[in-house]
Amino acid sequence: MALPVHLPTRQNCPMPSSALPSTPPKLSAPQKALRKLGLARDIDLALHLPMRYEDETRIVRLRDARHGDVVQVEAEVTHSEVTFRPRRQLLVTMDDGSDHCVLRFFNFYPSLQKQMAVGARLRVRGEVRGGLAGWTMMHPVVRAAAGQLPASLTPVYSTVAALPQAYLRKAVLAGLSRADLSETVAAPCLSQLHQLASWTLRDALTFLHLPTPDVSLVQLQDRTHPAWHRLKAEELLAQQLSQFEARREREHLRAPQLVAARDGLHEKLLAVLPFGLTGAQRRVGEEIARDLSRVQPMHRLLQGDVGSGKTVVAALAAAIAIDAGWQCALMAPTEILAEQHFAKLAEWLSPLLQERGQRVAWLTGSQKKKARGEMLALIASGEAALVVGTHAVIQEQVNFFKLGLAVIDEQHRFGVQQRLDLRQKTAGAPDAPGSSARDGAQEPHLLMMSATPIPRTLAMSYYADLDVSTLDELPPGRTPVVTKLVAAHRRDEVIERIRSQISQGRQVYWVCPLIEESEALDLRNATETHDELAAALPGVTIGLLHSRMPSADKKEVMGKFTSGETLVLVSTTVIEVGVDVPNASLMVIEHAERFGLSQLHQLRGRVGRGSAASACILLYEVPQGGRLSESARARLKAMVETSDGFEIARRDLDIRGPGEFMGSRQSGAALLKFANLEEDGDLLAWAQQAAPLMLRNHPNLARLHIERWLGGKSEYLKA
Ligand code: ADP
Ligand code: MG
Repeated sequence: MALPVHLPTRQNCPMPSSALPSTPPKLSAPQKALRKLGLARDIDLALHLPMRYEDETRIVRLRDARHGDVVQVEAEVTHSEVTFRPRRQLLVTMDDGSDHCVLRFFNFYPSLQKQMAVGARLRVRGEVRGGLAGWTMMHPVVRAAAGQLPASLTPVYSTVAALPQAYLRKAVLAGLSRADLSETVAAPCLSQLHQLASWTLRDALTFLHLPTPDVSLVQLQDRTHPAWHRLKAEELLAQQLSQFEARREREHLRAPQLVAARDGLHEKLLAVLPFGLTGAQRRVGEEIARDLSRVQPMHRLLQGDVGSGKTVVAALAAAIAIDAGWQCALMAPTEILAEQHFAKLAEWLSPLLQERGQRVAWLTGSQKKKARGEMLALIASGEAALVVGTHAVIQEQVNFFKLGLAVIDEQHRFGVQQRLDLRQKTAGAPDAPGSSARDGAQEPHLLMMSATPIPRTLAMSYYADLDVSTLDELPPGRTPVVTKLVAAHRRDEVIERIRSQISQGRQVYWVCPLIEESEALDLRNATETHDELAAALPGVTIGLLHSRMPSADKKEVMGKFTSGETLVLVSTTVIEVGVDVPNASLMVIEHAERFGLSQLHQLRGRVGRGSAASACILLYEVPQGGRLSESARARLKAMVETSDGFEIARRDLDIRGPGEFMGSRQSGAALLKFANLEEDGDLLAWAQQAAPLMLRNHPNLARLHIERWLGGKSEYLKA
């Protein structure tokens, strides 16, 4: 599929010369800094809003000033001297007729000294401090007392060293005056929200850059002013428009209609599963089956807490695709996880596929060339009905015979580009047997799975383009995991607990944190812990799994743990996702304070998979002479208080904010700058209603609106 790419149009560029393609222009340092801040177009500048304001509209008489006020006074210099005690400084006394004030400068150039000659009339702005000796100001801003006072507050923008405030201010205001700010919100939508009807975008922006001095600064600060409402509503509308547009584009795309055959693979798989499906699995399975039977590609996110049984849902979807004569690819972010999927899916499906002359293929980066070649051939011929692997699955050389369904596990760990790539791996050969001419434009159905549920507000805004299915029920027979916080110095008690679990025939995970600066150190840590446990638990087989190990070794270690030969597995976070060993009943996480909340939750989800009572011990260490950071405490507290994945995700969002939560790779610069999903629910609801209406009845305005607000970023919102 060719993706339209929106680029800023040339006339939008603030510096016309720079848009000439042939001679790359030499940008000045501030110009470069503007670019770096993403302020390339007039509209970008216009949307770069002040972080605060200074009031230079008024002259305050010194007599009326209060200690601590930031004021502007106009006064005459009555005395000026450089003293050297306690250190070199310029001391200037000024009198405004009501009182006098001493200005103190520790850093000053001769030019300032000259400007502040006795008799000069100046405007100075700074914080006044009262003392026994009268008013003083440290390093006030000084300018000549000429010209009119400004009519509006002076905006102060966030900037970088290479970009002086005055330069940026000028650029922003110039951008604001040049930018096309014509109305893009269709009239019927405008009238639905009274805040919008009374403020145009131009009014709102002009006001927010240059507010009149009578404004309530509180309303500006907490963004409750009506001008802010207009802006946030526009921003949310842009986001919704791009999401709805993606959904509409998808409606024009074609995918193979996948319908399960009667008495086919789907039913046979259900029959061989060692358990019955939960109600949630059945419901979600039906939602997916319905999507697969349509001619539009499915674009569905399956979210379900760790252990909720997503894999079998994926297997059933794969069975439908295979039944219908198509291939299915399943991609996982790590080799271990992919390996587990492979093992499980092969166990369930291989015997059934064999009857049909088909099989499950395995593809990873670490594969030997020969093995890989064999797999590629199976995939290209269609004999491999199901392909399981890592990123290797989407590499160029992989040619599917007829790819009908792609499943991405732990989808948040893949970048946007990888998801786009996968979508473009369409039904390998456009003229695949049994396909009509139209099939040239077909895409596979896409099922994304995630154990990190997306909080509702985020789902509504960022994933509006996705259909979401939720597994909200755990398979029966699980016992809740008890979570305990234990200080690191009580490590002995933890080892005692391990001993007791082992004596009951259970298995134990011990997770060491990755030490980012040094993989060597990190390995040493894990190795030391391994040795320590081996010494403390003589006769017990203890495995060591580390991210730096060759994958064959990892596989072996993991295999021994799965089979129960190894009773304790010491590991760095390589076991983070998806590992499934139901006999494990204790999870120890060392330096739990260093882990992210969703990571902790994922790790905890490795136990409590069987019927045995399970526990998760969070070992934490308070830094020497210090205390745990605010956010570390919040994370540990959340872990103890709840094991509900949705609640964990909500708290994680609280602790980290949406940008971090979604991962910068995914969100790019497309995250909301102005609106706040928690506070602006009403505006979001409005935008959700307005977007489809605008796309239907006012497509040109909609396009202009998206272009204005998102420029080239909208593609990333769709992946
Ligand atoms: P996740 O959603 O975390 O990927 P898995 O798919 O790995 O979870 O499933 C967790 C465990 O539960 C696996 O051992 C799986 O075989 C088992 N399981 C899945 N569905 C059911 C069910 N309906 N009844 C009993 N066990 C189930
Ligand atoms: Mg899983």
